[in-house]
Amino acid sequence: MFFLKNATYIDSETFEIRNTHIAIQKGKNKDILFVNEIPKNATVLDVSGKIVTQSFACGHHHAYSALARGMDAPPKIPKNFYQILKYVWWNLDKSLDKNMIKASALATAVAAAKAGVTFVIDHHASPFALKDSLSIIAEAFEKVGVSHLLCYEISDRDGLEITNLGLEESQAYLEKKQALIGLHASFTVGNQTLRKAVKLAEQYDSGIHIHVAEDKYDQAYTLRKHKTRVIERLSAFGVLNFNKTILAHCLHLSDNERKIISKSKAWVVENIESNLNNKVGFFDGQKLEKQIFLGTDGMHSDMIKSTQAAFFIGQNFENINQQLIYKRLRNVHKYLNINNFEGDSTNNLIVLDYKSPTPVTKQNFLGHFFYGFSSKDIQHVISDGKLIVKDFEIQTVDEKEIFEFSKKEAEKLWSEMQNFKF
Ligand SMILES: [Zn+2]
Repeated sequence: MFFLKNATYIDSETFEIRNTHIAIQKGKNKDILFVNEIPKNATVLDVSGKIVTQSFACGHHHAYSALARGMDAPPKIPKNFYQILKYVWWNLDKSLDKNMIKASALATAVAAAKAGVTFVIDHHASPFALKDSLSIIAEAFEKVGVSHLLCYEISDRDGLEITNLGLEESQAYLEKKQALIGLHASFTVGNQTLRKAVKLAEQYDSGIHIHVAEDKYDQAYTLRKHKTRVIERLSAFGVLNFNKTILAHCLHLSDNERKIISKSKAWVVENIESNLNNKVGFFDGQKLEKQIFLGTDGMHSDMIKSTQAAFFIGQNFENINQQLIYKRLRNVHKYLNINNFEGDSTNNLIVLDYKSPTPVTKQNFLGHFFYGFSSKDIQHVISDGKLIVKDFEIQTVDEKEIFEFSKKEAEKLWSEMQNFKF
């Protein structure tokens, strides 16, 4: 146990402000206690003048995209979403080997930790380095001190042999750790694979994590091939019957599809910056509000940035306000808690060195969150009761060493990608 001395603690739901010392228990699913006195000889971190609040969780990430930063554009310029996948991301994920996966996961976990994100829900693909890929990512995240809920992106896009390897990797990993069954998207998953994935989710009391109607192409293909819309198809196969199911994006939905989702147990994850980057459309949360949380879709690991973007952009396209968007940021904790996933209890905290020209109060907290806060203000991060970031520096690993490793692996990956596997 260790203590935060003289904290200005802000409750992440009520914004109630309390000046207190905080006793922090170490371990998964442990709590914090507000105390008036700190025992002698206790380990203490003085946080006088700093804001302390609950850390963040990212609802949809792709750690494998970490080495893409700064890489060359593909030789053919993608003209639409399908070509972005084909020329960029499917070429990248086919080029990954084990060391590149490890480097991506370490770099992502460090970025997440420093941005106060202590839990990451990840969606991974590496069709030609599939076996043990989830364990490599888990090990890297755990080394840094970031909790996780992983899945392998099963898809028929590279043939049924690789589909089966994806199913096997998912099952082998579920035997060891909390996880979801990942599927790429309706347009690359045939009926047989869909059936097998749902069966596996049932068998392990898990859920499905899938991209849904990210682009109009997903709906058009599904209508043409399966004579039904994406959500109607997924619903008919039982994908939406799980409390643990995550539907990523959900941009192009009919009224009936919104109705089906709103009546289901499934959750929806919004990734607004990625949608803008891919020019696929704008998220609208109507009828789904209680089920929405936020992700980064591999763009970065900064949930403050994503939440601010969801507000600034969202006001132009849907009926929202600051309260609603902030609630979406925090809904992921509900998802993790009702499903009894480990690693997101109250002993996950951030300490902000937030210098403001105006007073911070219970009433105006959201004004500060949206117009003032930056992940650069995060001075300390506590994950499962352990201090993983202290004075803006990661404590659990050597960041310099990791970036030297990831730079080397990035160069290998970029050169491998010149062989164009599309
Ligand atoms: Zn995604």
